Amino acid sequence: MYRASILMYHILDEPRAKNEAKYCCLPERFAEQMAWLGECCRPVGLSELLAGMEGTTQLPENSVAVTFDDGFVSTFEQAMPVLAKYRIPATMFIVANRIDGDNDWMHARGMPRRSLMDADQIREMHAAGIEIGSHTLNHARLPEISQEQKVREITESKTVLEDLLSAPVNHFAYPYGLYD
Ligand SMILES: [Zn+2]
Repeated sequence: MYRASILMYHILDEPRAKNEAKYCCLPERFAEQMAWLGECCRPVGLSELLAGMEGTTQLPENSVAVTFDDGFVSTFEQAMPVLAKYRIPATMFIVANRIDGDNDWMHARGMPRRSLMDADQIREMHAAGIEIGSHTLNHARLPEISQEQKVREITESKTVLEDLLSAPVNHFAYPYGLYD
């Protein structure tokens, strides 16, 4: 029996519009949350959490995994020093066709454009010990596209990231949490 919580963050910045507020966490609030996590919980990486689920290791009580979706530049700037300070493992899910691009899928829904990390920033994050996972090629709504497109979105995004990092990419986050 295991039990763990997974925290999901997007943008570490003040909201620039009302409709993106639920995706934003103030950097100082994030720092407070990480300080608290380090004291009250046992932060684990997703790989450690998976090993616990598979029964190869025992997960500690109050295991919490910290994750980030989409690859916003604000997370590169704000999260890395805080995670390093409190020694908290984390995973970042990247939209493989939007590297050095922006959140056009959010902009299409009326939210402000925000920059996403470039290849060097992703490599630096990976080198700092943050696990990198895939978040598809195009932030796809997977249940709404063909089988062929699904396979492309899932497998090609993994390949793009593995080529970028020269390392295996083992984690995947469904955009919008949508799956079938
Ligand atoms: Zn996303």
